[in-house]
Amino acid sequence: MPSQRTEFGPVDPPLDCPACPRLVALREELVEAHPDWHNAPVPTFGASAPRLLVIGLAPGMKGANCTGRPFTGDYAGDLLYKTMIDYGFASGTYQARPDDGLELVDAMITNAVRCLPPQNKPTGPEIKTCRPYLLATLAANPSIRAVLALGRIAHETFLTALGQRRAAFPFAHCAEHKLPGTELTLFDSYHCSRYNTNTGRLTEEMFRSVFDKIRTHIP
Ligand code: SF4
Repeated sequence: MPSQRTEFGPVDPPLDCPACPRLVALREELVEAHPDWHNAPVPTFGASAPRLLVIGLAPGMKGANCTGRPFTGDYAGDLLYKTMIDYGFASGTYQARPDDGLELVDAMITNAVRCLPPQNKPTGPEIKTCRPYLLATLAANPSIRAVLALGRIAHETFLTALGQRRAAFPFAHCAEHKLPGTELTLFDSYHCSRYNTNTGRLTEEMFRSVFDKIRTHIP
């Protein structure tokens, strides 16, 4: 199905998006090695008219890059979807497969960069090149009131996309930023990656405290 178009272009990139040569090269390598994987830009996933938009960094190799659904198939998804179900932002049972029947409720999940980057580290130009898809996602969903940025890159990409000054809204876990001139409030969390949870930088309780704030904001 063709992606919805907005004044900023389509909401989702074409599956053969050629814009970032380094990421295209990695996609092509993986098509050879794992022809049964998705290996393409990962489209946004979620409900229509959502009030919450969750923004991650980029697909994980054996997660979204493999399954084609954001945060599906890797550890980060285990924690994110479990928490979203607990807070009523998802229904069903998350089984790490795009056909597990899980549905988002009043929420949408996307990534700042839609293709898998080497070592999970997109470059500045790659982040900038993919930014129009984030802008288009926002434009297509004027119902959004709360944005959850998972990690500093998602936080900064979102502020830049909106033309907000980064220095005015410093990233901090559990921070809440009302964005002037918009109806949006930005919430920050450390990324729910296995690395962050294994090192104790992010605990389940810390992650839930962010969702407590979001639920208060959009009851
Ligand atoms: S990261 Fe975004 S802009 Fe770059 S190739 Fe992938 S979909 Fe296209």
